[in-house]
Amino acid sequence: APFQVIDVHELLDSTLVMLASKIGAIKVVKDYDRSLPPLPAYAAELNQVWTNLIDNAVAAMGEQGTLTVRTFRQDSFVVVEIGDTGTGIAPEVKDRIFEPFFTTKAVGQGTGLGLDITWRIVVNKHHGDVRVESRPGDTRFQVRLPLDTTDV
Ligand code: ADP
Ligand code: MG
Repeated sequence: APFQVIDVHELLDSTLVMLASKIGAIKVVKDYDRSLPPLPAYAAELNQVWTNLIDNAVAAMGEQGTLTVRTFRQDSFVVVEIGDTGTGIAPEVKDRIFEPFFTTKAVGQGTGLGLDITWRIVVNKHHGDVRVESRPGDTRFQVRLPLDTTDV
């Protein structure tokens, strides 16, 4: 898929529409910084990133909760934060969640590849960064994408 200059909010909204049936009754709160500039990125790959993070967020919440999708600018990065009010990530597994095939889900429920793929797309392909903060009821994944195109 080609490299494009994208509207990050348009891409997030289209992912949310695609995932509507999975999101179900979970409340979605959008907190977008509308002044963000267009972002140089691989749109299809970033769609995969939002999908993986939202998939995990929904799984951690079950039937109800709040999914927060926030955007803001930090220096020369656009930050997309996906937050959930789910179980949280146990401290003893937090260091392993980006490993390929690492999963805490039941057999057949998870491949353990979602965050590995996310890491490869964001860090290796976009030269960005993924950070996570988690405690029970408040988990946030931050995807940081550089606005500087020369490297992508
Ligand atoms: P999978 O979803 O197939 O298990 P992932 O790579 O997407 O694989 O995630 C790895 C593990 O990270 C999950 O099994 C889960 O333990 C943990 N995890 C990821 N996102 C969340 C989240 N939002 N809340 C709680 N745990 C999470
Ligand atoms: Mg997953």
